[in-house]
Amino acid sequence: MIAKIEQLLQEVEAMKAANAEELEVLRIKYLSKKGAINELMADFRNVPAEQKKEVGMKLNELKNKAQEKIAALKEQFESQNTGCDNLDLTRSAYPIKLGTRHPLSIVKNEIIDIFARMGFNIADGPEVEDDWHVFSSMNFAEDHPARDMQDTFFIENNEGNVTHNVILRTHTSSVQSRVMETTQPPIRVICPGRVYRNEAISYRAHAFFHQVEALYVDKNVSFTDLKQVLLLFAQEMFGSDTKIRLRPSYFPFTEPSAEMDISCNICGGKGCPFCKNTGWVEILGCGMVDPNVLELNGIDSKVYSGYALGMGIERIANLKYRVNDLRLFSENDVRFLKEFEAAQ
Ligand SMILES: [Zn+2]
Repeated sequence: MIAKIEQLLQEVEAMKAANAEELEVLRIKYLSKKGAINELMADFRNVPAEQKKEVGMKLNELKNKAQEKIAALKEQFESQNTGCDNLDLTRSAYPIKLGTRHPLSIVKNEIIDIFARMGFNIADGPEVEDDWHVFSSMNFAEDHPARDMQDTFFIENNEGNVTHNVILRTHTSSVQSRVMETTQPPIRVICPGRVYRNEAISYRAHAFFHQVEALYVDKNVSFTDLKQVLLLFAQEMFGSDTKIRLRPSYFPFTEPSAEMDISCNICGGKGCPFCKNTGWVEILGCGMVDPNVLELNGIDSKVYSGYALGMGIERIANLKYRVNDLRLFSENDVRFLKEFEAAQ
């Protein structure tokens, strides 16, 4: 009896199973009702009384070993079983919903691309600015209405006082100032960014919007250079048959200043409700950098001249995609954003 148990112990120790079916065969062979171990249990009563203790202990050891071994093998199969048996490699994948680029980002990237091809580098600056970079260095008079609380957001200091020196930038011209004060010409930069105005929010005005400004400062830069860049930009952005016209205007930081219209890209210049039957739509402001601005930012205006231009990204997006309500750009309505899937 002892010899038989020893033999079974060795068998159990060496048990191997390649799969669940083989394991089940082993379980039946050793542990089922009619298995080898139960047969020995049935024979136990025939064991002489003086051997009962020793044989009983051995028998229990065998039963425990067999149960442990079967359980261990079973666990091994379960941890290996990753469901790969049912893997169907011919099945098509689940569709992944891709996000869409925001229309303002699409337009901004397009503007940057056009200017980058003309050799402009991107310049960046802070949105929380000081009075100097937003107004003073840009030749705004001390009493200029843009400095008014009605137009500008002022930031409170730690004591809760409004200092009039820390503000949210109202235009990206502050980045031009930061570039000029740290760089000597030639300067050729494009400054895209978010700007803030203290406006009531409606379909045509928002408390924040986006601008792109371009600045070129070098020796002998003339208005002709500016016009050529404007024409190239308009034709790249709105099509090669786009015409431009310049109207005299006023900005504190440029002299002379102009506003640029393009031939209406909806009616082709014939006149429609969008262009109020004029055939022209305004898209940007521009001009020769005022010598005062160059001097205020540490550039010798007797040696250097430059031009600057600036446009609202929302305005360009509106012209390209006919978005008539500015608020749609910041509401993040997925149905609106989905419409630009094809544009990116
Ligand atoms: Zn029109």
